Amino acid sequence: MTTTRFAPSPTGYIHIGNLRTALMNYLIARKSGGTFILRIDDTDPERSKQEYVDAIKQDLEWLGLHWDKVERQSDRLDRYHAAADQLRDMGRFYECFETPTELDLKRKKQLNMGKPPVYDRAALALSDADKDALRAERGNGHWRFKLDQERINWTDGVLGDISIDAASVSDPVLIRADGQFLYTLASVVDDVDMGVTNVVRGSDHVTNTATQIQMIQALGGTVPTFAHHSLLTGPQGESLSKRLGTLALRDLRASGVEPAALLSLMARLGSSQPVEIRSTLEEIADGFEISQFGSAPTKFDADDLYPLTHKYLQGLELAAVSDEVAALGVPSELAEQFWSVTRENITTRKDLVAWWDMLSNGADPVIDQEDRDFVAQAMALLPDAPFNAETWQSWTTAVKDATGRKGKGLFMPLRKALTGQAHGPDMSALMPLIQVVKARG
Ligand code: GLU
Repeated sequence: MTTTRFAPSPTGYIHIGNLRTALMNYLIARKSGGTFILRIDDTDPERSKQEYVDAIKQDLEWLGLHWDKVERQSDRLDRYHAAADQLRDMGRFYECFETPTELDLKRKKQLNMGKPPVYDRAALALSDADKDALRAERGNGHWRFKLDQERINWTDGVLGDISIDAASVSDPVLIRADGQFLYTLASVVDDVDMGVTNVVRGSDHVTNTATQIQMIQALGGTVPTFAHHSLLTGPQGESLSKRLGTLALRDLRASGVEPAALLSLMARLGSSQPVEIRSTLEEIADGFEISQFGSAPTKFDADDLYPLTHKYLQGLELAAVSDEVAALGVPSELAEQFWSVTRENITTRKDLVAWWDMLSNGADPVIDQEDRDFVAQAMALLPDAPFNAETWQSWTTAVKDATGRKGKGLFMPLRKALTGQAHGPDMSALMPLIQVVKARG
């Protein structure tokens, strides 16, 4: 049985990069009828905030990425203590007392000598008496996992065969001097306890994976299948790390992006498959294959979300938006007509507000100097509202007869006078929706 998890740290709002991870894990679970866990990685009590936990849940719900189970690392500290004890008993866990400054100095020295900045394991040489003395002087130490210095191999779902020499990696710190468990251990304990079978996460976690594989093995767990998707860059290949804050899902939502647009793009971007709008998660899951994603950085352009949003909205029936249309104040007998005219002419749902404002309060007319008399003459021939489906045809025929104008010279000034725009919906379809004509003066 497939079990996946999305494991955000509630230290901020989730962004487009997190969505990619969440979605891939969600789709893998859904496709195989498995379980998708939302795991809140809140081992850092200072930075983790309940408001972000709530926000993460809201964002996932908005997208329709429903989880089968929620877990919180802060509820599981006993399990991490037990695992730490187990590793200690096995001689795989050791206490270190170097200060951050000392560690930094060691790293600089190694780099100066052209060596990789790997922790030198000096703490392994400390006697019990040394440790007591250090503890008395500096307080509790931090704890590192002792890696077996051999090659760590796995077949990655995206990157293929990976082999990392454990000797080139520092023994990871799993407990800080203040007693806080670090994610590296907590994640391993959770993945083992929760029977996680597939882990998809960003390629910034590749080294973590190497060390975590050894930890899982030490704890007697089954190593899940790992896949590391590439990281997103901006449209020109620039790093997104600083901009991700502005690509929070709630900001995209506020700007009118539809969940279907986000999901359709992120489930295919960076893969060998084309991006097309798909309306449901079932359609998105269909054909999703993690192995079809490439390892090269994936270019992401938020502007791509708008044509997809437009496409999605165009395909919706009134029933899907009727509450919003009613909330705008569109009378129910005009709702069908309003939606069928506007849905072709909006980028996001937010544009509906301006449409109804224009129709109900009247558009600011645009009248070119040379058309002034013509428009005035035409307005005198326009019957009173309400208009109907025949109004445009009968009115323009009457205006044509009275003025002798025809074709574009006839229609364009009238369109601009009634809508304030040179482009837009078919005027015959629009007329029945126009409540007020400002151009009448
Ligand atoms: N909390 C970790 C992160 O957000 C989770 C990584 C993982 O998926 O294991 O980076």
